[in-house]
Amino acid sequence: MKIVRTVAELRDALADAPRPVGFAPTMGFLHAGHQRLFRRSASECATTVASVFVNPTQFNDPDDLLSYPRDAEGDTKRAAQAGVDILWMPAESDIYPAGNATTVSVSGLTDRLCGASRPGHFDGVATVVARLLAAVLPDNAYFGEKDFQQLAVIRRLVADLLLPVTIVGVPTVREPDGLALSSRNSRLSLEQRAAALAISTGLKALQDEWEQGVRSAGSLRKALTEAIDTNPLLTIDYAEIVDAATLEPSGEILTDNRAWLAAVAVFCGEVRLIDNCVVEAA
Ligand code: AMP
Repeated sequence: MKIVRTVAELRDALADAPRPVGFAPTMGFLHAGHQRLFRRSASECATTVASVFVNPTQFNDPDDLLSYPRDAEGDTKRAAQAGVDILWMPAESDIYPAGNATTVSVSGLTDRLCGASRPGHFDGVATVVARLLAAVLPDNAYFGEKDFQQLAVIRRLVADLLLPVTIVGVPTVREPDGLALSSRNSRLSLEQRAAALAISTGLKALQDEWEQGVRSAGSLRKALTEAIDTNPLLTIDYAEIVDAATLEPSGEILTDNRAWLAAVAVFCGEVRLIDNCVVEAA
C-alpha cells in the first residue's frame, strides 16, 4: 500500500494505477464498517483508494471537531488489511488551498434530519466530497448507508455536477448486539455503550411492527423511540420517518408503494450517534 499526502503525490500514484479505480473517503479512526467499503471496492475495482481526512467544514460544533478520534498508525494498518492500494492522508491545506472560495451546496434533501439539526454540515460534506472526487477521479465511489442522508446528498451532487462516477451504497456494519459501528463509539463509557444499544433495538422494534402490518407513522415512531426515551443516558435529537427517495416527511399512514426511511439521531452524553433502517412492502 502506498501512502500519499498531497494532491500531486496522489495523481502521481494514480497515473499508472490499473482501472477501474474505486474510492472510499473517510474521516479515519477506521473500523470494520470502513473496511467493508474498502473490501467492496477491492472486489469490484483494480485499484482501491481510501482517504483519511477529518474535514473541518462539516463540523458545526468546534468541540466535536477537537474531540474527533484520530489514529493514523491504526488507520494505516486497517486500510492495508482491507485491500487499500493507495491511502491518501491530506493536510487541510491540500483540500482547502489558500484563498479557496468555493462551497458546494445541495438544497432540498438537506432541509431535514441531520441537515436541520447540524446547520452547514451538508455544505461541508458536499464541498469536501466534490473536491475529493475531483482529485481522485474514481470510476466508483463507496459510501455507507449508515449515513443515509449523506449518501442521498452525494448521489444528487454527482448527478447535478455531471460527474462520471458511480456511487455505490454499502449496508451498515453492526456489532454482534446490533449497535452500528461508528468512530464515535470509542468516546462512549461502558454505561453509555450499553445505553446506546436502545437505538438499534428501537429500529428493530419498528421493523417488527412494520412486518406485522402496522402502517401508522405514530405507532411506528413510538416503537422506535420508547426504549430510547426511557433511558436517562439518551436524548433524542430527531426520530423521523421520511420517504427514502425524497426524504420528505411521511403522512400519518405509510403507503405500501414506497420505501420509508426511519432515521434517528441520539445524544449519549456529548456523543451524537445516528442510525437508520429502510422498510418497504415485500
Ligand atoms: P466517516 O469516517 O464516519 O466519515 O465514514 C466514512 C464512510 O464510512 C462513510 O461513507 C460512512 O457512511 C461509512 N461508514 C461509517 N460507519 C459505517 C458502518 N458502520 N457501516 C458501513 N459504512 C460505514
